[in-house]
Amino acid sequence: MKNYDPQPTIKGFINEYNSQITIWCPECKTWHTHGEGNGNRASHCLMQESKYNTNLGYRIESYTKADLLKFKQGILKLILTDKEKEMLNFNEGGFE
Ligand SMILES: [Zn+2]
Repeated sequence: MKNYDPQPTIKGFINEYNSQITIWCPECKTWHTHGEGNGNRASHCLMQESKYNTNLGYRIESYTKADLLKFKQGILKLILTDKEKEMLNFNEGGFE
């Protein structure tokens, strides 16, 4: 097992019950779900040589509300039709 310093940090989504946190792993391209809250975790990575499979595991920090609002803007930009964007006063910068 590799020994990295500093410990890698990865951002995650807290579930609706505030009981689990889920990260998208860029190494093995799957979701890894852990117990509640931010902090240090043993990696669930499926790739033996993953940068997260260290003696320290990884540190998970939940996405902030500002992070999530950016995702929301990007998702709405992709899924709304032009007519819906017009009706909702949605433009490239978001809602007016
Ligand atoms: Zn992984």
